[in-house]
Parts: sequence; structure tokens; C-alpha cells
Amino acid sequence: AALLEIRNLKKVYNDGTTALQGVDFKVDRGEFVVVIGSSGAGKSTLLRCINRLVQPSEGSVMFNNMDATKASHSQVRKLRREVGMIFQGFNLIERVSVLTNVLHGRLGYMNQLMGTLGMFSKHDIEEAKKILHRLGLHQQIYKRADELSGGQQQRVGIARALSQQPQLILADEPIASLDPVTSETIMNHLHTICQEDGITCVVNLHQVEVAKKYATRIIGIHKGTVAFDGKPDELSDEV
Ligand code: ADP
Ligand code: ADP
Repeated sequence: AALLEIRNLKKVYNDGTTALQGVDFKVDRGEFVVVIGSSGAGKSTLLRCINRLVQPSEGSVMFNNMDATKASHSQVRKLRREVGMIFQGFNLIERVSVLTNVLHGRLGYMNQLMGTLGMFSKHDIEEAKKILHRLGLHQQIYKRADELSGGQQQRVGIARALSQQPQLILADEPIASLDPVTSETIMNHLHTICQEDGITCVVNLHQVEVAKKYATRIIGIHKGTVAFDGKPDELSDEV
């Protein structure tokens, strides 16, 4: 079965804006899907419907055969443990160390208080350090998150998501605020995670060229509907 199956998804916000309509697609395990579309197309709403940051108006989002749109409070928590999220603005806890940020991903938000009290286990700390090594952040482990460059902060974001051991990673414009060289580094890390760890990735981008370079599949969103769904080489450059 598909890891993710979106059926007839619709989202109308309270102010009457229709952000998504009639969206249908499946994602299999191991895919590296890039969702492209211009600003306001509905990409961010789409990702947020998957981990229930947004409640869709109609349709279903099946994740591992569970309908995320009907998930109970505890099922939403389980869903968010299995779905790692990476943001354009990194969303790190600025005043604490890189290591603590990653540990919070590992333990989940329910356990943040324990972390604040210094109750991370030795094993958790070792695992978090291993992930930071892998992302080339071994020299930044004890730095405050807000002392890092944008590219380093996004690598912390990736490390935090990885430390959850998720089945799916959703990245919402992860390179939108980074320069082209740093962007390549971030995309390479995401690609490696998908290939080596088998973690399925769905990445929102607005740069078609970057999408074509990394995606195994591209979904084009235009005005809230799927305008393209296929292999990168089937997509013309004008889209
Ligand atoms: P994208 O990520 O492709 O830029 P979004 O999903 O952010 O697109 O936005 C899709 C549409 O929904 C836009 O018209 C946007 O202004 C609107 N929108 C997004 N969030 C909200 C919200 N909370 N309330 C009302 N409209 C929203
Ligand atoms: P992003 O950088 O993800 O595109 P935005 O700046 O579009 O974020 O939106 C920031 C927040 O405002 C989000 O929570 C989004 O859902 C909400 N939002 C976006 N567009 C609108 C809108 N037209 N009306 C109300 N809220 C909106």
C-alpha cells in the first residue's frame, strides 16, 4: 500500500479563500517528491493538511492507512512523531544549543519539559550527536542555534527531523531563504536521507530547476489543483 494517499482534498479557509480543491495523489515509500508551484498556489496548505496543522474542508489524507483528517488527539500526536517537518524559517528554539534542539525532535514535544530539566538520557544524547556528525555539524553541537548561519540552522532542522526516526519528511520551502550553494547542500542532505535511510520525502519548492535535479517525481500545483504529476524529464521548463 502507498505510504500516503490523498483523495479529493479541499481546503477553504475561514475568510473564503479556496487554497486546495480536488487534489488526488499517492506517494509510495522511498519516493522523493517535489511539489512545485508559485507563491499562493497551495503548497504549504497541502503539507499542513498532511500532518494536521491544517484541518481540510473535504477529502481524506491516508497515512499508513490511517485517515489524518479524522485522527483523534492521540493519533495526531503519533502522526506528528512519524512525520518530520522542515520549515523555510527553520523554526529552531533560538536560545538553546544545537544539541538540545535535536534532542527535542527525538523526544517529541510532550517531553520537552523533561529535556528542560536536563533529563535527556545518555543514549539519546549519543544518538543526537551521531546525527549531527552526519550533517557536518560536529563543531556546532554546543553552540546556540541562533549563532549559526542559515544553512547550518537548516541542517539542524534536518537533524531534528531525522532524530524522530520518521517515515516521512515534509519540507516546506526549505531553501527559500538560502543562497544557491547552500541550497545545493541542503537538497543533497535531503536526497541522501531518502536514499540511505529510505525516508520518503515531500519537498515544496518554487524553483523548477532544483526540482528537476533532485526529484524522482514532480507534482505541480496551480491555483489549488494538481496541474502536473510525473517524472522530472516530462516537465517542460516553462511550467
Ligand atoms: P503556497 O505555499 O503555495 O505559497 P499557501 O498554501 O500558503 O500557498 O496559500 C494558498 C492560498 O491560501 C493563498 O491564497 C493564501 O493567501 C491562502 N492562505 C494560506 N493560509 C491562509 C490562512 N490561514 N487563512 C486564509 N488564507 C490562507
Ligand atoms: P509562508 O512563508 O509559509 O508562505 P505566509 O507568510 O504565507 O507563510 O503565511 C504565514 C501565516 O499566515 C501562515 O500561518 C499562513 O497560513 C497564514 N496566512 C497566509 N496567507 C493568509 C491569508 N491570506 N489570510 C490569513 N492568513 C494567511
